[in-house]
Amino acid sequence: MSEGIKKVRQQPSQNEDLLFEISSPGKAGYQLPPLDVPSVDPRAALGAGNTRDAIDDFPEVSEVDVIRHFTRLSTWNYAIDLGLYPLGSCTMKYNPRINEAAARVEGMAWPHPYQPDSLSQGAMEVMAELERCLNAITGMDAVTLQPAAGAHGEFAGILLIRAYLESKGNPRKKILIPDSAHGTNPATAHMAGYQVENIASNSRGMVDTEILMKAVDDDVAALMVTNPNTLGVFEEHIADVAKILHDKGALLYMDGANMNALVGVSRPGDFGVDVMHLNLHKTFSTPHGGGGPGSGPVAVKKILEPFLPAPRLKRVGDKWEWNYNLPDAVGRVRAFYGNFGVLVRALAYIMAHGGDGLKRATLDAVLNANYLRKRLEKHYQIAYNEPSMHECVFSDDIQKKLGADTGNIAKRLIDYGFHPYTVSFPLIVHGALMIEPTETESKRELDLFADALISIAEEIEENVEFVKQSPHSTRTSKVDEVGAARKPVVRWKR
Ligand SMILES: *Cc1c(COP(=O)(O)O)cnc(C)c1O
Repeated sequence: MSEGIKKVRQQPSQNEDLLFEISSPGKAGYQLPPLDVPSVDPRAALGAGNTRDAIDDFPEVSEVDVIRHFTRLSTWNYAIDLGLYPLGSCTMKYNPRINEAAARVEGMAWPHPYQPDSLSQGAMEVMAELERCLNAITGMDAVTLQPAAGAHGEFAGILLIRAYLESKGNPRKKILIPDSAHGTNPATAHMAGYQVENIASNSRGMVDTEILMKAVDDDVAALMVTNPNTLGVFEEHIADVAKILHDKGALLYMDGANMNALVGVSRPGDFGVDVMHLNLHKTFSTPHGGGGPGSGPVAVKKILEPFLPAPRLKRVGDKWEWNYNLPDAVGRVRAFYGNFGVLVRALAYIMAHGGDGLKRATLDAVLNANYLRKRLEKHYQIAYNEPSMHECVFSDDIQKKLGADTGNIAKRLIDYGFHPYTVSFPLIVHGALMIEPTETESKRELDLFADALISIAEEIEENVEFVKQSPHSTRTSKVDEVGAARKPVVRWKR
């Protein structure tokens, strides 16, 4: 405490506040006048009914303690900005900063969905341009940007199929789904009121056209297929599959989550797909999962266009309007017009690459997956011996014989500083290791990752118990994952 400030204890106040008297050199006993700054009583500002007097046992901490707590926790997290995120089927690619810059432009960040169309022309133009790009990429005829996720897009897409078949006076009961499908596919079909029938994959990991032919009867509304499928295998007979369905009056739905292997190279619209969704937060580099809201646009062929959710963009003269006059539309599937900020980011990604750049990204994604496959296939059992597309899928067969499984290998990867791959999916592969590097990883990062997995394979040969007890370097080691999922405790205290 400096010379000029004398600490005095005045009348002991209730909370024993210390008051300070500043002694001014020229003027003995100078008393600092009350500071003339505005202040707000938070309780009064919040208003009656919005405050509580007491919460039993609530922890009392200061703002700085809370900030430090959460900042510290955030540094314990793993993110795409820290390293490779090889979750197969999830396409966890880098989110380029140019997307963020575009989304923060005032005209993109500030529009309100209730502002008049005349003041939203720029935002509407962005959406129309994105729809046009997605049509060009997929080879489809029309797009809705409303759905907020891939699963949501699936649901919207199957509702379109249902509305179409009903309009033909031909409602049907069943949806066929290959056994390699993502769990959202059967969930979607079930939610839309259909019975789900599984189609076994053949020995090459593809839809078995013989089995399909027998399964498609007059009750089948559609097949939901993922292409490339979740084994990273391109469905070679996809055009035949479409024909088998169409000949029986059924439609082909494509789960487009794996479009990272096709953009600029092959168009679903050309191989017979009637309706599909895209995951902008996968293929088109917008933030994924905890990084932000998703977006699952649905693209359709002409026959399904009348059923697309309302409203839709309509060009009238030189202006955009929202068209609500769509008598056959299945209705809205989401408030307003989709996650606009995500749409801006996806369009920024598309435009920053251009057609050639998008194709190059696809080729690099496939190259990266095959590079990892080549480096790893001497150490891990490849699941299906077909060319890999955007991802490569191994089984843990070799390691199982030594007592370790895909879960143990994944946990040990954390010690090497990597986020694990997708574990135990697809279900038809025993102990799957599903690895998708994406095009955004450098050769150096791919090599470090492959080195880590090879090293783990060697560790399993030498000391399997050590691997089974991993992770060794994390703040918590084994956690009760089942308990956390089935009986989550989301309150601080009961
Ligand atoms: C990610 C994914 C989905 C679901 O997409 P969300 O955007 O997570 O709802 C569906 N199918 C496949 C094959 C996927 O990889």
